[in-house]
Amino acid sequence: MASHCSSRPGPSSPGGGLEKLPSSSIRVLRSVESLRRWRRPHLLDRRSVALVPTMGALHEGHLSLIRAAARENHHVVVSIYVNPAQFGVREDLSSYPVTWDADAAALVKLDRELADDGQNLGRISAVFAPTTAEMYPGGFPGQEVLEGRSRPTFFRGVATVCMKLFNIVQPERVYFGQKDVQQTVVIKRLVRDFMLPIEVVVGPTARAEDGLALSSRNVYLGGRRRGVATVLYRALQAAEEAYKSGARDRGAVLGAAEKLLGEALSEQTALAPERRVRFEVDYVSLADPDTMEELPVVDPAKGGILSGAVKMLPVEVPRDGEDLGHSGGPAVRLIDNIILQPAE
Ligand code: AMP
Repeated sequence: MASHCSSRPGPSSPGGGLEKLPSSSIRVLRSVESLRRWRRPHLLDRRSVALVPTMGALHEGHLSLIRAAARENHHVVVSIYVNPAQFGVREDLSSYPVTWDADAAALVKLDRELADDGQNLGRISAVFAPTTAEMYPGGFPGQEVLEGRSRPTFFRGVATVCMKLFNIVQPERVYFGQKDVQQTVVIKRLVRDFMLPIEVVVGPTARAEDGLALSSRNVYLGGRRRGVATVLYRALQAAEEAYKSGARDRGAVLGAAEKLLGEALSEQTALAPERRVRFEVDYVSLADPDTMEELPVVDPAKGGILSGAVKMLPVEVPRDGEDLGHSGGPAVRLIDNIILQPAE
């Protein structure tokens, strides 16, 4: 793990001068000290700074958050850091896609688009791409914290790295995606509990044309599993339909999602092993929008959050020449959610 974490994406600073992304004015900052040096004058000039935290492998979902940040702030800092603290011991840290060159190109292209569009207050000013030694100077929290069940560990890891990023960048606003809804609840809570002078902005989930929520992990899927991967979103939509038709009871709302998932599973199971896709439903949830506590019944004045996770299992029998996806197509855990809007 340590060797992975210490490998540096991208070129080092040429000639010790200010490192920038190619053909752009976007600074590449790799140390806390250089970020702070960059930040100070903007504080004195009262220029607002936004932070968009990412783990790289940028896609349209990330870019939509950066666009929102540039509309409302003078400077946008995009952090790219694959945070080891939010991966469990058996999770995909070592194969998580690291695509520095493509990310740099996407940011440069987006920055030009932002410059040409008069609606924006700011542009992408800097990319913060620290090492793990820089982010965890006291040593990376030991494996023991990664041994527990995945969720408490995961959110502790997210909260820790975001607190560090907030303290380093001192942004006025931070931008997170609705796609990771529980993460947005944790971050809002963190900001409130620690009285951080930061506004948390949540951007809508960016989706592929067929509805699949964009995710850096979708590259693991390969064509066969990609075709079935919309099953979770379709199930959540079925539950949303039930709610819109008047269902309020947990059983009635989630029953619609479970029915669709069950039917899709039977459909796949009936196919030959070289055609079918196997998946396991991790959970389907109906929760309070503020606390994420499970709801026995939806209060239509408040609405709720439908969410779920489905594990797409590796294909059993590959066909000749079949593209199984990045890293040979390991199991991929997909998450998604839909907000049930207040109905009355
Ligand atoms: P990640 O790089 O996966 O850690 O994501 C960085 C940020 O992008 C998080 O705030 C995510 O919620 C957000 N994000 C990821 N996928 C999407 C998406 N499909 N639509 C909107 N935001 C997203």
